[in-house]
Amino acid sequence: MTDPRQIQLIMELRRQGIDDPRVLDAVERTPRAAFVDEPLAHAAFDNTALPIACGQTISQPFVVAYMTQRLGVQPTHRVLEIGCGSGYQAAVLSPLCRRVYTVERHKPLLKQAEARFKALGLHNVTTKHGDGFKGWPEQAPFDRIILSCAVAKVPESLIEQLKPGGILIAPVGTVPNSDVSARAESFSQQLTKIIRTETGVKEEVLIPVLFVPMLSGLP
Ligand code: SAH
Repeated sequence: MTDPRQIQLIMELRRQGIDDPRVLDAVERTPRAAFVDEPLAHAAFDNTALPIACGQTISQPFVVAYMTQRLGVQPTHRVLEIGCGSGYQAAVLSPLCRRVYTVERHKPLLKQAEARFKALGLHNVTTKHGDGFKGWPEQAPFDRIILSCAVAKVPESLIEQLKPGGILIAPVGTVPNSDVSARAESFSQQLTKIIRTETGVKEEVLIPVLFVPMLSGLP
């Protein structure tokens, strides 16, 4: 039986405007407690971001659901995610599309995420240890691309890996540096939706968000 706290979370997401039944169902089926370290399992149903290993964060369920909804994922789609982290966002995408390709620069995070996908039987998630600024050229082009980390500007290399008519969603704006004491108010990011057209791109600003930065190279 579904945990009552999970049902409460779904009701909260509905109140916050998530109304695509497929997205709500995907969130409901994804046990977030499996994506955080044991000491934080009690907080897994809270609608907040939480710390994970390597100084990173698992995104807030609302933001995961919102990005998933705005991505408009279809069952035939191949989706690229940059910033696998805990694997939670990829797991929510998994039942909604044909295949999720997810890239992470921290190897220990990726190993943990891979074990979670396996344990949950999410066989359509393919992982890669690497620098997301390069995307995944061998698997391109993608129907959808989602950045789970913030960029000052969406890299051209990623837009090039999107099919015409494809959608990319990314947090765009100033990014906190490695100084963990940096105050949240001192930077700002807007979730941005980019549609690749035959001749260029169309851009739409969605909502303010707060993500860890996309960093180049491997740690
Ligand atoms: N989708 C994740 C969010 C994790 S936080 C989740 O649901 O838990 C964002 C992640 O992006 C971090 O794990 C960070 O290491 C990763 N990241 C940052 N820059 C990257 C890059 N250039 N390539 C790949 N991953 C990157």
